[in-house]
Amino acid sequence: MSIAHKLQANFDEMVQIRRHLHMYPELSFKEVNTPKLIADKLRSFGIDVKENVGGNGVVGYLKGTLDGPTIALRADFDALPIQDEKDVSYKSKIDGVSHACGHDIHTAALLGVAKALSEARDELHGNVVFIHQFAEEVVPGGAKAMVEAGCLDGVDYVYGAHVSSWSELGTVLFCEGYAMAAADFFELTIQGKGGHGASPHETIDPIVAAAQFVFGVQPIVSRNTDPIESAVITVGKIESGTVGNVIPDKAYLTGTVRTFNLDIRNLVEHKLNNLCRAIEIQYDAKLDFIYTRGYDAVYNHPAETAALREAVSINLPELQVVNVPPRMGAEDFTYYLQEKPGTFFFVGGGNESINAVYPHHHPKFDIDEQSMINTGTVFIQALKLHGVLQ
Ligand code: MN
Repeated sequence: MSIAHKLQANFDEMVQIRRHLHMYPELSFKEVNTPKLIADKLRSFGIDVKENVGGNGVVGYLKGTLDGPTIALRADFDALPIQDEKDVSYKSKIDGVSHACGHDIHTAALLGVAKALSEARDELHGNVVFIHQFAEEVVPGGAKAMVEAGCLDGVDYVYGAHVSSWSELGTVLFCEGYAMAAADFFELTIQGKGGHGASPHETIDPIVAAAQFVFGVQPIVSRNTDPIESAVITVGKIESGTVGNVIPDKAYLTGTVRTFNLDIRNLVEHKLNNLCRAIEIQYDAKLDFIYTRGYDAVYNHPAETAALREAVSINLPELQVVNVPPRMGAEDFTYYLQEKPGTFFFVGGGNESINAVYPHHHPKFDIDEQSMINTGTVFIQALKLHGVLQ
């Protein structure tokens, strides 16, 4: 039986795993039963398993009979604090928690691949490492901890996939170079001095200072960053004051910064700090600015991305290859790609006929389960690319 047939033969089991995980989702850093299920499955396929890698991570090691490179394939397995509002038999049974990003699909797809490859061990020219990652949704994430715990030791290349409801089933999406943004967050507290709205000269007005901050961030993008590069600074929240004729003593703002290039990211953080100091001097207010870095930008290695994209378009005519521009969302897959060459691609799972049309993190989010086969098929192409499978 060919590897593609072996994968196809696992479809029912993949669906069963996916639906079980969907019904019993677990939040980031609180995963207990999910990693246990993964470890049990991998062992049942005859694959060596390490548990509690960097936290709740599970890593499977499949050693091929023949010599060759070692390829790591990654799936994340945490869920979200979102109530499942779908009307399906596999709806979440955990109140307020659901697999609203498709990480259950990733996990079941990778387990399906692991089973198929375990049956083809004698044909493997090299080794496959299955990285089952906890806590992708919440910074600092599980990827960094798993890398630090050695999950990439001996690995030559690393590949990861994300299903997407925003792309039709049958599509596979690639982006060379910067593919997803670095996502940072800031909080600003402006301490002024309250007073009567009719006597502003006796106050330090935090609302005017807050307004100055909001306008002050605009030229950081338009005048300080290279127009060929991109940066987004958004102030998403301002809180201050209670009534129209009183100047409050405090204002509170929060926002997010999205960038790709590290120099631009450093520049934006530096300029935001400068802006706060300038406003302090101008207004005699006290500005307490906290900048928190989220995940680094995802950089897909161009050679591996192009090679996999070409392999898919030539060898898998049933799949439609799409080149996509970078997205401003974030992913901790970046921490694998900072260590090893590889790529992170998207697999379409949208399907109107089964209501898989809602965006990720929506209470009615769902994905066509056939995308698990497509994910697995592209992973197998990655192994063929490096000669692990002939
Ligand atoms: Mn996700």
